[in-house]
Amino acid sequence: MIYKPYGTTGKNVSAIGFGGMRFDTNRPDEENAQLLHYALDKGINYFDTAPDYCKDKSEDIFGIAIDALSKAGRRQDFFVTTKGMPEDFPTADKARAAVETSLKRLKSGCIDFYHVWCIRNLSQYELAMRPGGQYEGLQRCKDEGLIKHIVISTHLRGDDVRKILAKKEFDGVLLGVNILNFLYRWEGVLAAHEQGLGVVAMNPLAGGIIPRHEKSLSFLAAPGQTPTEAALGFLVSCPQITVTLVGFTAKEHIDTACRVVDTARPFTAADIDRIKRHVTQNMDKLCTGCGYCLDKCPRDIPIDSYMQYYNETLLAQKSEKEMIAGLDFQHNWGLLAHTRTRSEDCVRCGRCELACTQHLDIISRLERLVDWEAQKKKA
Ligand code: SF4
Ligand code: SF4
Repeated sequence: MIYKPYGTTGKNVSAIGFGGMRFDTNRPDEENAQLLHYALDKGINYFDTAPDYCKDKSEDIFGIAIDALSKAGRRQDFFVTTKGMPEDFPTADKARAAVETSLKRLKSGCIDFYHVWCIRNLSQYELAMRPGGQYEGLQRCKDEGLIKHIVISTHLRGDDVRKILAKKEFDGVLLGVNILNFLYRWEGVLAAHEQGLGVVAMNPLAGGIIPRHEKSLSFLAAPGQTPTEAALGFLVSCPQITVTLVGFTAKEHIDTACRVVDTARPFTAADIDRIKRHVTQNMDKLCTGCGYCLDKCPRDIPIDSYMQYYNETLLAQKSEKEMIAGLDFQHNWGLLAHTRTRSEDCVRCGRCELACTQHLDIISRLERLVDWEAQKKKA
């Protein structure tokens, strides 16, 4: 395992972090908790979770693992993170209460890195930072030793990330960057790195898009590599990225990630040129399936499913005719099976677009889908 300094915090963290958002929730929590023990034994010492992950079970699973590790005298061997959104905890008191709840669930005396979570626009940042707001509550927690470091998780554009980080309020940043979108996201990474902050990459496999489309993304890989291995290797070998978060469901996933770290080599100029030739701005416009839009829709439209189907136009350059032809399969057996509402039910309220971590033009994509579905019906 490679270890890197997390900014100027004095902490050395593993190049791969355990992302707690991909547990198989059909398994017993105790079985999932074993994955954290396995990862620690493999050298992974950065454990990242949040309330709500995995049907809100993730923090509890972490708690089972942390409790056992603490009893075995190993609490100092790893770092744990969790998160809170300013909209959910808009006052200092609510932010403090959220930290206390997370501490109880995590069965830990402190949280090493606490994220001001999912900042998608500047007004959310301002909400967190206003007097008496979330940040003030987190600072109190820090003074009391409940939190070691306050960090930020954001989907803002690079220039806005730079503006925020310049204020020196955070010790690190969590950003959505990967081999498909780095050409359009690198400004934020550079801003954080230049300011001596820890930089954690989330979504290294573009929300599963890379493993699911290995054939059309084969250009990412060097001979002997899979595109998935190339995507992880790219981030791990970047000197500007401190930790790459990978969501693990099984021990084999941990083994693969550790193997990639052990064999990662810096990408050459030729590698980057090869990727640049294929990666277009479209790759920055893919739905990652994060699901942040879903509970915002008053019509209960399966937005993530529609947007992931729409991804095919960007990834595989599918024509309109092919997209129309593919709809039956999606409605009967695929992404759209068992959905009660359709694209035509959209009332264009715009709530999903405000929530979208990728800043997608969801309404106009749904309009194209309405048209395709109408053409399918007529055919
Ligand atoms: S714009 Fe349409 S899809 Fe988006 S939240 Fe509103 S109704 Fe739902
Ligand atoms: S549409 Fe946006 S918010 Fe919704 S799942 Fe896709 S990327 Fe996430």
